[in-house]
Amino acid sequence: MEKFGYTISTGRLIDYDKNDKTLYYYLKNNEPSIQLCIGCGGCTATCSSGNFTNFNFRKLHLLISRGELTNIEQEISKCMLCGKCKLVCPRGVNTRNVIFRIKRWIYENQSKILILDTEI
Ligand code: SF4
Ligand code: SF4
Repeated sequence: MEKFGYTISTGRLIDYDKNDKTLYYYLKNNEPSIQLCIGCGGCTATCSSGNFTNFNFRKLHLLISRGELTNIEQEISKCMLCGKCKLVCPRGVNTRNVIFRIKRWIYENQSKILILDTEI
């Protein structure tokens, strides 16, 4: 490989070949509206949980679409399923059902999640 005088920081490297997009495909099949998200952040701005924690649906969506699932169970546990985010979404993404489906996927894939959480 050519040396260009710099190296890539592995901590900031997103390796799509190694990431796991299983959850994103599951969501696409079970709540197709997730594909309409444009990352505007309206849901995050109105989030009840976001007022008290660092929970961020927009960021969560980005990580899942990249297949970066580390700590996902901890993150998703902050959501109260109140549904306010769904009411304000300009694209009609059923965010509440997206989160519900993520919880369900985690429940059905506990062994995989345990492995992901111990990788850090
Ligand atoms: S409000 Fe809707 S379109 Fe905007 S980031 Fe949230 S889910 Fe995506
Ligand atoms: S359903 Fe969850 S993500 Fe949406 S506003 Fe309520 S706490 Fe926030």
